[in-house]
Amino acid sequence: MTAENSQNSRAIVVGAGFGGLLAAGALSPHFGEVLIIERDTLPAEPGGRTSIPQRHHLHIMLARGIANVHKIYPQYGDELLAQGAFTGDVGACATAAAPGGMHRLPVAIGIQDFYASRDAIEWAIRQCASRLPNVRIIDNTVVTGLATTEDRSTVTGVTTAGETFLADLVVDSSGRAAHGPGWLEHIGYERPHETKVPVGVTYGTRRYKRDPVRHGSIYRISVAPTEDGHRGGVMIAQEDGTWIVTLSGFGNHRPELDEKKFHEFAKSFVASDIADAITDAEAVDDGHRFKIPAIVWRDYKGTKLPRNYLPLGDTICSLNPIYAQGMTVASEEAVILANCLGSGRDDLTARFLTDADKFIGRVWNSTAPLDRKALDTTATPKKGARDVIMTAFGRAMASDPKVVEAFLRVNGLLDSPAKLTRPTILARVAWANRPWRRS
Ligand SMILES: Cc1cc2nc3c(=O)[nH]c(=O)nc-3n(C[C@H](O)[C@H](O)[C@H](O)COP(=O)(O)OP(=O)(O)OC[C@H]3O[C@@H](n4cnc5c(N)ncnc54)[C@H](O)[C@@H]3O)c2cc1C
Repeated sequence: MTAENSQNSRAIVVGAGFGGLLAAGALSPHFGEVLIIERDTLPAEPGGRTSIPQRHHLHIMLARGIANVHKIYPQYGDELLAQGAFTGDVGACATAAAPGGMHRLPVAIGIQDFYASRDAIEWAIRQCASRLPNVRIIDNTVVTGLATTEDRSTVTGVTTAGETFLADLVVDSSGRAAHGPGWLEHIGYERPHETKVPVGVTYGTRRYKRDPVRHGSIYRISVAPTEDGHRGGVMIAQEDGTWIVTLSGFGNHRPELDEKKFHEFAKSFVASDIADAITDAEAVDDGHRFKIPAIVWRDYKGTKLPRNYLPLGDTICSLNPIYAQGMTVASEEAVILANCLGSGRDDLTARFLTDADKFIGRVWNSTAPLDRKALDTTATPKKGARDVIMTAFGRAMASDPKVVEAFLRVNGLLDSPAKLTRPTILARVAWANRPWRRS
């Protein structure tokens, strides 16, 4: 690609959501223009919009996601802080009760976390994207399909109700709604095969005033799922001085929004941290619910695709949000896209999907056993080896900062799970679980 070609070239991004805005940052150095087309009217101030119903629920970005976003938009953290987001060390500013109700040691591990609403996160990234001189956002415009060459081998842009926008590359980041399969079918391609696993998760979320004196620099309180994996919850500080409290349950374990029932649900967890924190707190809304019937992974890698079409984000894979991985996966894909573009545009989609699939597989496989266990609705699900190991780690994290650090790095997707099975870590876990100590 010559510099001149690059100057004249255009990439279109469908959707100004989390993945789309990051994709724009990855595309910007490689195209003359990056056009983001968004169906919603985007607010002129930080605030919500209709097509992101998940905005009413707690959003946590894992450490790897935060690092990825900064790779694309180095000023992201500053943008968030300018809106009043809280920040602190991921190990020191959060309390966490593990299975069995044991509490992790509060220790600083040198990784900065941010605590803010989904609206603030998106606004911060949108500010970063909008500052790039060759990125333009057209809102209030619904993409209806893909434009192609006559032989349909190559995507040449997107169609909307009134216009066709031409492009040299179309990145489809239209989110969970996943319009891509229908668009592809319409131009004569097969839909990607879908792996769909029912999870039947219900989210219930309410917001409460946060008492800064009582909670000081604790910005996150989490209680790991109950032994059977059915119920759990997390609360984080928001930029407007509230706590957002999301309780979740599998199957029939559905958090009610009624204030009293919501509190009762939190009391049924392995530790009372969340229930205690909201006991006397003033509620500031009536709450919201969200149902996640299934997780879905679309095999775009194994599907014949037209040239110059590239899916990214939830449209490839939408995960169970209780593990807070969706934004991190989308951010990883944006970084992969940036890396692939560094080697030119030949076979871009194939190279991108090869690397993206590897990462998605790692994430998908790390949580699938937890979903399977939680879906077991028998009264007393069997305790597997994983439960015993998790409990042993939980006990070690209550006393050993090195185990806390190793665990948080793996949990934040910075390190591979193999790091937890290093002899030095296993020896520490064994020591924390020595029989005379446990009795
Ligand atoms: C209840 C809930 C809680 C979650 N909590 C977390 C969490 O704690 N941590 C985490 O990492 N992830 C979480 N996630 C997942 C996270 O929200 C997604 O992974 C992330 O938003 C994916 O980004 P995306 O760009 O693929 O989709 P989105 O951010 O949903 O953006 C898609 C965009 O495409 C636009 N669009 C759709 N169709 C069209 C069209 N035809 N034309 C033009 N524009 C279109 C939409 O309006 C939207 O702006 C949660 C998800 C849910 C449902």
